[in-house]
Amino acid sequence: MSGFDLQWVGNGRHAAGDVRFTRRETFALGLCMCCLPAHGSAAHTFSLNDLGNGLFVREAPHEEATLANMGAIANTCFIIGRDSVLVIDPGGSVTDGRWLLSEIRKRTAKPIRHVVMTHVHPDHCFGAEAFVDEQPEFIGHAALRPAFDARGSFYHQRLVEMLGPENVGRLVYPTREISDVAEIDLGDRLIRIIAHGAAHTDCDLSLFDTSTGTLFPADLLFVDRIPSLDGSLLGWLREAKRLSAIAPARAVPGHGPAMVDFEAAMARQLRYLTALHDGTRRAIAAGIAINEASRTVAADQGEGWILFEDYNGRNVIQAYKELEWE
Ligand SMILES: [Zn+2]
Repeated sequence: MSGFDLQWVGNGRHAAGDVRFTRRETFALGLCMCCLPAHGSAAHTFSLNDLGNGLFVREAPHEEATLANMGAIANTCFIIGRDSVLVIDPGGSVTDGRWLLSEIRKRTAKPIRHVVMTHVHPDHCFGAEAFVDEQPEFIGHAALRPAFDARGSFYHQRLVEMLGPENVGRLVYPTREISDVAEIDLGDRLIRIIAHGAAHTDCDLSLFDTSTGTLFPADLLFVDRIPSLDGSLLGWLREAKRLSAIAPARAVPGHGPAMVDFEAAMARQLRYLTALHDGTRRAIAAGIAINEASRTVAADQGEGWILFEDYNGRNVIQAYKELEWE
């Protein structure tokens, strides 16, 4: 694998705006904190990795979105095929999306025919506006549109407060919705797109490049950064099996290194999700209240997971609400 680093710092603003929603308020709104911006100031170095065979991945840092990183906290990818280019997650802000577009154009003048938004979280979607003039199909899960309706304006406001409106852009709704499985032909390679049942969120897509055996599970696979549960724990365990059945040669996770061994990475994630499931179920059976459970369940699972303290308690609460009705 050859790689090279690119220095890039977002334009303009030097002072972070007020953050009008505290985490507690965000929580009270029942909205996911995953990938919402927080204050930060360090300049950020982006790394774009050339994985060969026309496949490029921008490996993102394990941070919350900040003015310094311009919301670029999720991995983004593009695949250059014989006839066209496909983008997987266009970035976390329009500024991030413009950066990605410029990187594509340094490498190819081929039309960008497809931009896939793998789920509702802002770090995976808000770069889409940068690609509108390319007139691609914007592809999303059939449940992405209602998810945008429910959360889009909140995410937008939250990002604007941090990045400024000129850097955020607007949400772009999908022009093609996937409810099962679809195949995209880039001329010399087929890309399979799978619509999942509720798991990380209720609108997760994954992609599989059949020509290289590379899986793009998006946020169905977290590496190093603690997984965040915003859909269904039981569903995530189920959909993980579905991904494993593909037996991919390698994977590009939504958060983590540009490329990983799928089996090992998923096994590690499953250890955490299983501990979360089993511990939550035990807490419910023992009559432990949800707040107490959020402090104790899976609390010993943090080793090796970045941002564990920020997300484990929230994951327990999400799991508790789901499992208490079993
Ligand atoms: Zn996500």
